[in-house]
Amino acid sequence: MADLEELYREIILDHYRNPRNRGELDPPAIRVEGFNPLCGDEIVLSLAVTDGVVTDVKVGGSGCSISTSSGSLMSAAVKGKTVDDVRELLATFKGMLSVGDEGEHDPSVEPTPVNLRSLGELAALQGVAKFPVRIKCATLSWNTLAQGLDEIAAD
Ligand code: ZN
Repeated sequence: MADLEELYREIILDHYRNPRNRGELDPPAIRVEGFNPLCGDEIVLSLAVTDGVVTDVKVGGSGCSISTSSGSLMSAAVKGKTVDDVRELLATFKGMLSVGDEGEHDPSVEPTPVNLRSLGELAALQGVAKFPVRIKCATLSWNTLAQGLDEIAAD
C-alpha cells in the first residue's frame, strides 16, 4: 500500500510541476470559468467538441497544487474521448471522492472503490477523499468541465 501511495504522490507532483494542456483555445471553442472560494483556485477551461468528441481541451487559471494537478489530469483524461465517455468518467471520479450530484462533498455517499485500471492516473487523487477541505480543489476542474458540456448540450 505504501508503494501505491508513493506512486500516487508522484503522479500528482508530476502533473503539478508539468501541467498538461495549459493555455486557452480560440473560438468557437467553449470557454468556462470556475472558482473555488474555499481555497482561491481559479480555472479557465477551453473545450472543443466536434461530432460528440472532445477534440481539444486547454486549462488556464491558477490554483493550489491539488487543483492544478487535478486540472492537468482531467485534461489528459478527457482529450479524445466522446462526450458520453467523459460524462461517465466524471461520474466515476466524483464517486471516488464521495461527491454528490450537486458537486458537494457528502459524507453519506460511500466512496466508490476504484482502481488504476478504470481511472488510470486519475486514481492518484483518491487520497483527497480523506481531506474534505481539499475535495473542492480536486473537483473544480471537473465541475467546470460539466458546466462546459452542459453548454454544448444546450446548443
Ligand atoms: Zn485548492
